[in-house]
Amino acid sequence: MPGKENSRRHAVVIGASIAGLCAARVLSDSYSQVSVYERDELPGTAANRATVPQDRHLHMLMARGAMEFEELFPGLLKDMVAAGVPILENRPDCIHLGAAGHVLGTGQTLRDEFTAYVPSRPHLEWQIRKRVQAIGNVAIQRRSVAEPAFDPLRRRVTGVLLDPADPPGDPEFVSADFIVDAAGRGTRLPVWLTQWGYPRPTEQTLDIGINYATHYFRIPDGLIQERVVVAGASHDQSLGLGMLCYEDGTWVLTTFGVADAKPPTTFGDMVALADQLLPSHFADALAQAEPVGEPAFHAFPASKWRRYDKLDSFPAGILPLGDAVVSFNPTFGQGMTMTALQAGHLRRALRSGADDVVAEVNRATAKTTFPVWTMNAIGDTSFHHARTEQMPWWWRPSGALFDQFLGAAESESVLAEWFLRRFSLLDSLYMVPPPRIIGRAIAHNMRMWLRQRRERRGAAVTALRSP
Ligand SMILES: Cc1cc2nc3c(=O)[nH]c(=O)nc-3n(C[C@H](O)[C@H](O)[C@H](O)COP(=O)(O)OP(=O)(O)OC[C@H]3O[C@@H](n4cnc5c(N)ncnc54)[C@H](O)[C@@H]3O)c2cc1C
Repeated sequence: MPGKENSRRHAVVIGASIAGLCAARVLSDSYSQVSVYERDELPGTAANRATVPQDRHLHMLMARGAMEFEELFPGLLKDMVAAGVPILENRPDCIHLGAAGHVLGTGQTLRDEFTAYVPSRPHLEWQIRKRVQAIGNVAIQRRSVAEPAFDPLRRRVTGVLLDPADPPGDPEFVSADFIVDAAGRGTRLPVWLTQWGYPRPTEQTLDIGINYATHYFRIPDGLIQERVVVAGASHDQSLGLGMLCYEDGTWVLTTFGVADAKPPTTFGDMVALADQLLPSHFADALAQAEPVGEPAFHAFPASKWRRYDKLDSFPAGILPLGDAVVSFNPTFGQGMTMTALQAGHLRRALRSGADDVVAEVNRATAKTTFPVWTMNAIGDTSFHHARTEQMPWWWRPSGALFDQFLGAAESESVLAEWFLRRFSLLDSLYMVPPPRIIGRAIAHNMRMWLRQRRERRGAAVTALRSP
C-alpha cells in the first residue's frame, strides 16, 4: 500500500463539475467505492446549472482537451458527434482566429491533421456526467460538504462532514481514505489548511478585470460557414468576442472586455461590436440573427494559481484538482483542458503506486501549468493591460517578439498553423517556436518590410514625376 495513502477502500470527491467528474472516473479504477458530493441540483439533460454560472458563456473545448477527455471517457467524442456536436476536421475555413489584433491566415491551408469539437459547456458536462453515473462503484449525491475532517495525530484528512442545511439533511461524517477537492475556484482549502496548522499556499495572480456578456441566437443555416470565431482583445482594443455554433444549431455570442472594460449589454450592441471586429461577411449574416433568451453576465477579476506544489508540509489524504488549483484567463479557453490533464496526472500517480500521490500530482500539475500560465501572463501583460506583482523582466520583450510573430502569421500560413496548434494546446504546452519557425517568421517579416519599402519608393518616384 502506498505510504501516504491509507487504503483504497473509499474516496470522496467534493463537487461534480468537470474536475469532480474526471476525478471520480479516475478514482473508480483504484478505489472500491467513490462518493461524489455536489451541492447543486444535477439536471438529467444538458442544461445550465446554478452553481456553475460560467456555463452560460462561450466554452471552447481545445483540440487537446478533446483527446484528454476521450482518454478518460472512451467513446465520448463519437457520441458527441452523433448528438450533433460540430466537428472540425482539417477545415481551416471553419475557423476565424483573431489574436492580439492580428487575424491569422488559418483559412489558407492546414498541412497536419487537426480535429476540434464544439460542444456547449452543459452538453460536455452532461455527456461526462452520465458516463460517471453509469460507473458501478461511483455514487453522486446532492449534498454540500461543510468541511473535511482532519486528524491532527495522524496529520491526515479522514473524511468529510456533510452540511445539514444545504440541501436539508442530517449532519453526517463520512469516512474516506482519500478526498479530492474539486469545489472550483471558491474552494476553502487554503483556509482549512491554516485551521489545521499548515501554511496557506502562495497565490500567483494576474489582475485582468474581465467582464463577460453573452447572448444566444439563431440564424438561417449556411449563412456562416465558420464554426469557431474568435476576435481576442488587443493592446489598443479592450473589447473582444467569441462566437460558436453548438450541437442544437444555436449560436453563442460572448463579448468581453479586459482591464475592467465593459462589454455591450444588449444583443443589438453585441452584434454592432461583432460588425466592428469581424470581416464584413459576418455582419451580413448577423443582420438576420434572431436573439434567443436573455443576456448573461459574468465578472472574472483575476487569474489565480495556488502553489500547493511549493508547500513544504501538506496533510495526507486530500488533493485539490481543477479550478481549485488554477483558474486561467477564460478568454483563452484552457480551463477544462488543463483540468483533464490534471486528472491524467492523478490516474498515472495512482496506477504507478506512487508513494505520495498528492505530492506527485501537485508536482505534475505545476509542470503542465507553468508553460500555459506563463504564456498567458506574457500575453495578458503585453496585450491586455493585466497587472501582477511578480513580473520577470523578460515578459515584455517576449510579448513584443510574439507580436512580431503574430504579424507574420497573418499572411504566412505555416506560422498560422503552428500558432493554431499550440493555441489548441497540441504538440506541446510551450508556446515557444522552434528555430525553424522563428527563421520563417524573420524571413517573412524581412520580405514584407522590403516589399513595403519598394512600394513606398515607387510611390515617391511617381509623385516626383507627376507634374
Ligand atoms: C466565464 C468563463 C468562461 C470560461 N470559458 C472556458 C472555455 O472557453 N474553455 C475552457 O476550457 N474553460 C473555460 N472556463 C473554465 C472552466 O469553466 C473551468 O476550468 C471548469 O469548469 C473546471 O472547473 P471545476 O470543475 O474545477 O470547477 P467548477 O466548474 O467551478 O465546479 C465546482 C463544483 O463544485 C461544487 N461545489 C462547490 N463547493 C461545494 C461543496 N462545499 N460541496 C459540494 N459541492 C460543491 C459546485 O456546485 C460546482 O458544481 C471558463 C470559466 C469562466 C469563468
